[in-house]
Amino acid sequence: MCEHHHATRHILCSQCDMLVALPTLQHGHKAACPRCGTTLATEWDAPRQRPTAYAIVALFMLLLSNLFPFVNMKVAGVASEVTLLEIPGVMFSENYASLGTFFLLFVQFVPAFCLVTILLLVNRVPMNFRLKIGLARVLFQLKSWGMAEIFLAGVLVSFVKLMAYGDIGIGSSFIPWCLFCLLQLRAFQCVDRHWLWDDIAPAPGVAQPLHVGVPGIRQGLRSCPCCTAIVAIDQPICPRCHTHGHVRRRNSIQWTLALLVTAIMLYLPANILPIMVTDLLGDRMPSTILAGVVLLWSEGSYPVALVIFIASILVPTLKMIGIAWLCIDAKGHGKRDCERMHFIYEIVEFVGRWSMIDVFVIAVLSALVRMGGLMNIYPAMGALMFALVVIITMFAAMTFDPRLSWDREPQTHHEESLKHGE
Ligand SMILES: [Zn+2]
Ligand SMILES: [Zn+2]
Repeated sequence: MCEHHHATRHILCSQCDMLVALPTLQHGHKAACPRCGTTLATEWDAPRQRPTAYAIVALFMLLLSNLFPFVNMKVAGVASEVTLLEIPGVMFSENYASLGTFFLLFVQFVPAFCLVTILLLVNRVPMNFRLKIGLARVLFQLKSWGMAEIFLAGVLVSFVKLMAYGDIGIGSSFIPWCLFCLLQLRAFQCVDRHWLWDDIAPAPGVAQPLHVGVPGIRQGLRSCPCCTAIVAIDQPICPRCHTHGHVRRRNSIQWTLALLVTAIMLYLPANILPIMVTDLLGDRMPSTILAGVVLLWSEGSYPVALVIFIASILVPTLKMIGIAWLCIDAKGHGKRDCERMHFIYEIVEFVGRWSMIDVFVIAVLSALVRMGGLMNIYPAMGALMFALVVIITMFAAMTFDPRLSWDREPQTHHEESLKHGE
């Protein structure tokens, strides 16, 4: 176990810092970390053709879904129809340019950019090495900022909200958009991070023995935050991607706490201020997040009321509590329970983006419900505050270094016997 190894078949788990020897995987199989269960690598057959096919079709679907009407609505003979690009357009004209920008970025630009980047990298399109490294770095950082499927969920929720007022119909762009959501997810899934980086440049060798089953920090190793290569701790710059790195993310807890406090301060106005204003026959009714849930519940749409309640109220609150708990635990207070902390971290990471649903619902409603003197819906300040809360808590979860929770675990018998064997 202690002989001189080339680092390609070894991985330092990004979540718990355990050094794992990768077995030879069969096609379609995954390798998971024995300590925390995180998926370390997936072996795909046709690793170039598969993501290329998915990405090309997804981009074509994206083009189609921007060309035709997306959804339409009829109320008492008055019809309204919007295309995808008109949704941020309405935001811009209502002086909510920031919300319109978020929409364009998260729903259209980020997924499209990632798909083009996947096409370029997977097919080894000749380009400047630095540009290639930069693109690969950005690709994996942007992964959680693509929100096409969350927008789709938001559209479905708006349908339920509007059913009480009139007839809702889907346009020719709706089905292409659904396909785009599915295909872009698949394209991303088929690109293995380790495979892609090894394809760009071979992993650098490590000049010291590797002990499988021992955390990297206890054997002088760290994983590069950008390309996941195994690098010696005293080597500040990764030989493969030239990224600066440290054993643990620097000032991780301080950054996380600062962002958390900001999010909590914005969370209050996000819940008190109205998120949208409904203008029904000249009667302007502002409504908050909670009022929206109560209205849905009283109308009898229990599942949707529950979805909105979970996504907009329960998840952000629990997420902020979860992040605070992680920081307290990593600082060394409280009972040590790595598995539980890891479970909390995974939930916080996975669930955070879905809180955006309500913001997208408001975007769709305020674009679609333009019925002249009959009924109009406008976005309000609370929606912007709420979007900021979601974005800032996402950043807070990202700046947190999950390995800090695992560092508190004492050495195992396995590690001690390894040390004595040297
Ligand atoms: Zn792990
Ligand atoms: Zn690197």
